[in-house]
Amino acid sequence: MPFLASAPALPSAMPSQPIDQFARELSPETRASVYQSTKTTHEKRTKLLFDQFADPNRLRTLAGEIKQHAIENLDTLLPQVEARLTGNGAKVHWASTAQGACEAVLRIMQARGATKLVKAKTMVSEEIELAHFLEGHGIEALETDLGEFIVQIDHDHPSHIVRPIIHKNRREIARSFEREGLGAYDDDPGTITRRARHYLRHKYLAADVGLTGANFVSAESGRIVLVTNEGNSRFCLAATKCHIALVGIEKIVPRDRDLAVLLNLLGRSGTAQELTVYTEFIGGPKSAAQPDGPEEMHVIFVDNGRTEVLASECREILRCIRCGACLNVCPVYRQASGHAYRSVYPGPVGAVLSPLLAGERFPQLADLPKASSLCGACNEVCPVNIPIPDLLLRLRQRAKEENVPSPGTPPMGAWALLASQPTAWRAALAGGRLMNHVPTKLIPVPALQAWAAQRELPAWRGGEFRKWLRQRRSR
Ligand code: SF4
Repeated sequence: MPFLASAPALPSAMPSQPIDQFARELSPETRASVYQSTKTTHEKRTKLLFDQFADPNRLRTLAGEIKQHAIENLDTLLPQVEARLTGNGAKVHWASTAQGACEAVLRIMQARGATKLVKAKTMVSEEIELAHFLEGHGIEALETDLGEFIVQIDHDHPSHIVRPIIHKNRREIARSFEREGLGAYDDDPGTITRRARHYLRHKYLAADVGLTGANFVSAESGRIVLVTNEGNSRFCLAATKCHIALVGIEKIVPRDRDLAVLLNLLGRSGTAQELTVYTEFIGGPKSAAQPDGPEEMHVIFVDNGRTEVLASECREILRCIRCGACLNVCPVYRQASGHAYRSVYPGPVGAVLSPLLAGERFPQLADLPKASSLCGACNEVCPVNIPIPDLLLRLRQRAKEENVPSPGTPPMGAWALLASQPTAWRAALAGGRLMNHVPTKLIPVPALQAWAAQRELPAWRGGEFRKWLRQRRSR
């Protein structure tokens, strides 16, 4: 996973968790803009949902049940969707690994003698590092979502599922455009957008193949559903003769009518919109009666670790519809931003999904399930009601059982001993007040000293509860 490899090396005796290190290194300006932007979207999302639906939580429960049913019945839904897609004129491919998915795209391109591909935003293509792979085989793979385009020209990584450049400001973007020859420095957002549009329009017309993801695929009709706010997926398919859709196997929904629930929640949860600006339903390649559109359509279903996730104790995470609401509300994400998660999926969803998809590389991401206060806000906003805090706890338990080392974890053995001995516990409570007067550098345990140096601990008030209980009993 190149994204993982490009993150700072993680020394084994790191005094704090890696995510703390990323948070510390974030500039105050970036932190403030990530905080403000996520907070505003979250507040708008909450107002919209509660203003418009009598009981949004019931809707979330229903959406969760639909997706849970889908992932538990993939064995019947996947053959069904393959039959529908084939009946609609599409060709279906199956890829069990990232490499297999990249090679499937390459084979389709080579069979057509194609060398230019325009790409709408798809998380799964980020996950499998498709653009990088194709470039290595002499194929131009251009991002057309504005945020992803900026990430690509900057050789950066997305830091949010919905807003890939939440960590950048318009001055940085204007400098990137100037560097790439897209015009003299001008940080007016309108100018930036116009310049990108002008550049991309030529690329759409010159491309051989348009690649998209899929927000949902209906097993009932074989329709692929795409949502965007820029209409770029539509442009990707307007002039190209071949459409490739790269789809994670968990994107299946059983029926078309399920989309009424899921689309209503996706727009509101992700961007606080009633519906995203463009919602497309693609039923197959162009028919003889249609004047334009791709003549060929390929759908590549990607596993890449998803069946292992399905077999795990955290299968609920496959319900995720990539709305980003859990990122927007997460106090850890707001402080650390997306690169701190060192994988394509940041925030609470990434803290669960990334270690699971990383498989054998789990130790390198073992700190992520611990990068959470378990406040539960992610679960409260999730449109498909994923119990993220529970899943984080299950992953922590797994890491403990499998002895997965996790950098930055404070020593807990002494704590466990103390907490299980009532006499020692009472003595520690009484003596703990001394801690209020001990400078951090004088803490006797080095690892604890380093851990405490990163935090502002509240004043010790140990024993107050016992005192209160004793007084209450004696009344
Ligand atoms: S876990 Fe839930 S809230 Fe987070 S991105 Fe996925 S669907 Fe959205």
